[in-house]
Amino acid sequence: MPKIICPRCGQEGNLFSSKVKGKRYLYVSHREGKKTIKHYIGPADGYTAVNKLYNLNLTNIFEVDLEDVISSLLDRVEEDLEDITDVDEKLKKIWDIENLLELHMKRLRDAEKEEMGKKYGEKEKQPQAGER
Ligand SMILES: [Zn+2]
Repeated sequence: MPKIICPRCGQEGNLFSSKVKGKRYLYVSHREGKKTIKHYIGPADGYTAVNKLYNLNLTNIFEVDLEDVISSLLDRVEEDLEDITDVDEKLKKIWDIENLLELHMKRLRDAEKEEMGKKYGEKEKQPQAGER
């Protein structure tokens, strides 16, 4: 049971799911002295409608694979591009997306450099053979 901050009361608690009439629901349990109280969070498959629309693999608010979501969103962006017939509009959209991705790539590369520096020292930024 993962520990989370309960969205209902703001206290730390344990996330768990429970099946009621074949459907899964999410709760957070809190210990209060000898008693355990449960706070209802929502259906475990609460995003199925959004999921069908955008194919994002969102199952519920706590179990999200962000890399999967990013990948699905980019697929969706490419699909949307195919529908644009106006060349100028299409180019503008492509450039906007490229700029956005480049910005994030730059941040990721900076973060990578920093971590590599921590791991291998400032002078030696490349991993040694056999390491990693
Ligand atoms: Zn709570």
